[in-house]
Amino acid sequence: MKFSCALETSSERIRLVNVISPLIKAGYQLISQKQESSENGGNIIRVVAKSQEPKTQADLIEDLSSIEGCTLFNLEIDEDDNAASSSVPAKKVLDEKSVLSAIGAYYPKIADIVSQYEASLPADRRMTALHELGRKVGGGIYQRDYALGSPLKMPKTISRELVPALKGLSKVKAKDNIIYLIKCPFCKSSDHNHSGCHFVVGYIEGFLASNPAVDMIQVEETNCGAGSTNICEFTIR
Ligand SMILES: [Zn+2]
Repeated sequence: MKFSCALETSSERIRLVNVISPLIKAGYQLISQKQESSENGGNIIRVVAKSQEPKTQADLIEDLSSIEGCTLFNLEIDEDDNAASSSVPAKKVLDEKSVLSAIGAYYPKIADIVSQYEASLPADRRMTALHELGRKVGGGIYQRDYALGSPLKMPKTISRELVPALKGLSKVKAKDNIIYLIKCPFCKSSDHNHSGCHFVVGYIEGFLASNPAVDMIQVEETNCGAGSTNICEFTIR
């Protein structure tokens, strides 16, 4: 990551060398550096440099802010260079709120967004988080598309409402209370925990829970096709 920054030193005694040695120590390669006097009796140090190891923007700000006797007052990061040099992108957990708004914008083409969210989470949080996300999305779709008019009871709501809703996301087959996602788009890139399918479990639960004519239900992925048939089977009880 290439960046240029300007730091103001608190006194004239703090000079270029005091700024660049900690940067070099922290693993940056200097491209250019310049010192000028500031109006406040200190110096302004301008540095253009490059990180040699993968660093995030937060790392950089921390490194620059921890230089003694200086205040960082300008920082520009060269994004193009950043994209080219950081082949290992900084892993940042996506927050559910922004994932939901992306889903709202792209619905029903959401499988990639769901997988990105899944990949951004630590493995032990994936199942619960995807389940929760699915509940919100499924509930929202019921409210948006099916809440008007008199609510359908089970099992009619499955064939007339839930299956058509799921068809936007994947190829679907249904037999009574069992739903099959053919070429399930949620677990194709999933790990062996097939946490992607927990999005679908949550979706079905949230969808049916929003229907006032449906009593408590339980949804389970009774067979996952991840890594084999790619047909996932969900049972509603
Ligand atoms: Zn699955």
